Amino acid sequence: MKKWVFSFAEGDGKDKKLLGGKGANLCEMTQIGLNVPPGFVISTEACLHYLDSEDNQLPAKLMKQVREQMETVEQATGKKFGDPDNPLLVSVRSGSAMSMPGMMDTILNLGLNSETLQGEIKQTGDPRFGYDAYRRFIQLFGKVAMGIPDEAFDQEFEKVKQEVRVTEDVGLSADDLQQICDKFLQIYQDSTGHPFPEDPYEQLEISIKAVFNSWMGKRAVDYRREFNITPDMANGTAVNVCTMVFGNRGEDSATGVAFTRNPGTGENRLFGEYLVNAQGEDVVAGIRTPKPIDKLDNEMPQMAKELAELRNKLEAHYKEVQDFEFTIERGTLYCLQTRDGKMNASARVRTSVEMVHEKLLSKEQALLRINPEHLEQMLYPTLDRNVAAQPVAQGLPASPGAAVGQAVFDADRAEQLGKDMGMKVILVREETKPEDIHGFFAAQGILTSRGGKTSHAAVVARGMGKPCVAGAEGIHVDVQRREAFVGDHVIREGDLITIDGSNGNVYFGEIPTVEPEFTPELNQILTWSDDFAYLRVMANADTPEDASRALKFGAKGIGLCRTERMFNAVDRLPIVIEMIVADTVEQRQEALDRLLPIQRSDFRKLFETMAPLPVTIRLLDPPIHEFLPSEEQLIDDIAQLQHLKRSIRGLDVLSSSMMLLADKNPGSDTIPDMVDIALVEQAISTKQLMLKKVRALTEVNPMLGHRGVRLGITYPEIYRMQIRAILEAEAECVAKGMEVHPQMMVPQVCSAEELKWVRGYMDDIKEEVEKDTGQKLSCRFGTMIEVVRACMRADDLATQAEFFSFGTNDLTQATFSFSREDAENKFLPMYNQNLILKDNPFEVLDSNGVGKLMKLALQWGRDIKPELSVGICGEHGGHPASIEFCHHAALNYVSCSAPRVPVARLAAAHAALKK
Ligand code: PEP
Ligand code: MG
Repeated sequence: MKKWVFSFAEGDGKDKKLLGGKGANLCEMTQIGLNVPPGFVISTEACLHYLDSEDNQLPAKLMKQVREQMETVEQATGKKFGDPDNPLLVSVRSGSAMSMPGMMDTILNLGLNSETLQGEIKQTGDPRFGYDAYRRFIQLFGKVAMGIPDEAFDQEFEKVKQEVRVTEDVGLSADDLQQICDKFLQIYQDSTGHPFPEDPYEQLEISIKAVFNSWMGKRAVDYRREFNITPDMANGTAVNVCTMVFGNRGEDSATGVAFTRNPGTGENRLFGEYLVNAQGEDVVAGIRTPKPIDKLDNEMPQMAKELAELRNKLEAHYKEVQDFEFTIERGTLYCLQTRDGKMNASARVRTSVEMVHEKLLSKEQALLRINPEHLEQMLYPTLDRNVAAQPVAQGLPASPGAAVGQAVFDADRAEQLGKDMGMKVILVREETKPEDIHGFFAAQGILTSRGGKTSHAAVVARGMGKPCVAGAEGIHVDVQRREAFVGDHVIREGDLITIDGSNGNVYFGEIPTVEPEFTPELNQILTWSDDFAYLRVMANADTPEDASRALKFGAKGIGLCRTERMFNAVDRLPIVIEMIVADTVEQRQEALDRLLPIQRSDFRKLFETMAPLPVTIRLLDPPIHEFLPSEEQLIDDIAQLQHLKRSIRGLDVLSSSMMLLADKNPGSDTIPDMVDIALVEQAISTKQLMLKKVRALTEVNPMLGHRGVRLGITYPEIYRMQIRAILEAEAECVAKGMEVHPQMMVPQVCSAEELKWVRGYMDDIKEEVEKDTGQKLSCRFGTMIEVVRACMRADDLATQAEFFSFGTNDLTQATFSFSREDAENKFLPMYNQNLILKDNPFEVLDSNGVGKLMKLALQWGRDIKPELSVGICGEHGGHPASIEFCHHAALNYVSCSAPRVPVARLAAAHAALKK
């Protein structure tokens, strides 16, 4: 005979599909010896059978099996279902394999009727308790099983309260409640056309059918659609029938909820609250204020002791912090429900470490119970969750963390107010450019109204660990007027704003933030992670400060130093501009000669900071026009200067006129000192030269244009200077006896010929530097793989390169032909919403497309050079799912912005540990 019904003592606690999550758990708790009120589960198979049958019939023999199980429960409790003297009352709950909160309400006190009610009153000696239980049952049964709206009952209930002049339910007497029961029975009859069922088995059968029907109810169907719950995840609902226990049977009864450890701090101590002489719903409804669980020790010491034992049993079995519900009925403790406790990241980290020390968990289990993404909570300031505030605009969460400051609209002002005057500022721009870098240094955070997660603002902010909201398109910035507009509101320079780079929200005013802390427990977790991980985690870092931070976060080297960031510092930009506008090779060389010592010292400091870990320096990548102001800016500047020139001329005229007037106006013959007109003319001609150069360098598609290695081949002196700076810096370190491991890599490569060309520069310069310094140099030479042809020709590239580094930002752009600057604000959200693309490929590595190219490149590269070291340095290098892909593709390392390093370390361990 098909088994449809399972007692808590026999059901398989692991079979959630058959018994539902709640049912399986009740079975498991029973079988590990917890005091669960006796009961049974009707399987999801019975539900499916019922729903599939014509005119909804319960499976044959189901009610027979229910009756058999009920007899077992009767034996265990000493009560009888429907017994007028000592009645057994039960609760009926739904429960599918996936938790679906609110799918169906619970029916309590089932089994009460006009006769058993008297038995219950006799047993408890408490008529008020009996009638209260009865009226709750009639209402719940009426609502849940028959669909009678709550209002019908609530109105009558309120009427009685008014008649007897009480405001609180507890003020109602047994007589009042009896009167309410009569009225409720009448409502039931009026609404359904039938009297309230007296037979407890009829009550139960109707309830079982109601639970089964609820699986196809609108609420449940909508919920499954919303959360993509498919039939292979949960199919049908089980019905849990459980003996009622009451926490409201007097001063020796209570009800409560608790966590086995503190979910806020992770402290290894029972945490929760309880109410004496109350039912669970009173705790939820907030009618009375519960007491902290510590107080139970004074009020019910024996129960407190048993609760402590329950806690230990739960953790010993589930090997996880539990969030459980309990009821004490006349001095007996029952556990009604338990589930894995939800907690914040720092509590999860602390409990992981402590549970390993307590031998509850292995290190592997401890690591796997922490979601790497959640670690970010511990590394950045967050908005104080206790403060409710409405965002005024939303952009992309481009670099996590929260920041508060005064709005400023250009980088120079950011520097004046932020650096020079020590104020907290948020740099608000339409979009940022490399020349804004000093504003980044001075700002607490960055807000842009254009650009995506790999836009300049996003990448630079992430590298610096500063919060950034990018592409908040609702904001319009007017730099000239030093204002921004958000709907009808204006943000003026100096107005306080708050940004949350973790969710993209922008707020007016100051919202308090909570500072992060890098705890010893987090360090421990990350050290264990490194022991299990196969991938090495490096950092993208451009300055010695970035490098120090990367070290603090545990980076095992620098996987990408974007040298253009160094060119943008205020002391270098003028020289860089000179180099760009130079008319002759000699003039350019002269500027480069001045840049050489500066770059050498940059590189030396990086090597020193990271020694003996590797430092990978990328030769110049962006199109050089990016170092010059925009064409509009220059046209505007020139117009202003021309205007100034005319004014100075006018003042000269005025000055000579004054001499003539001096007789009539004594003392007015002096005109204030003016700017030398020659200086203005010189400024005009410099700007005109720059404008000419900007126009000459203009490209329709700069990202596909004159950049990367193309630049290095057409302007060899630039790459030569950088290569020399790297090698001389290495020589200086070696001379001091330091162990350093520099690597240089070439961006945007598409053919081995390009690599050979640049390698030629390196070989020549290396020979010279070794000869000049007498030091032996070991700098390695590698290539970025960020264009599709580089993947296709990887075997060829491997003949020239000692390592590959996948630049997946550009490789994603190139593979999809989606602009990395625009796609995230234009069509990608709609693509994602409609599942045309499941994820944003600039955030989650597209393993099927971009990843496939990577695998091919890797295989072809290693076929030629088995020892080829391969890594990734695009933004995906810090993303857990992408890291898992890199692990399985057998890359050697991932490189990501410094603050993502801890996330990546744990993700790398997860990738290695997951089956
Ligand atoms: C890349 O393209 O992935 C990369 C790391 O280079 P960038 O983001 O500087 O273009
Ligand atoms: Mg790139």
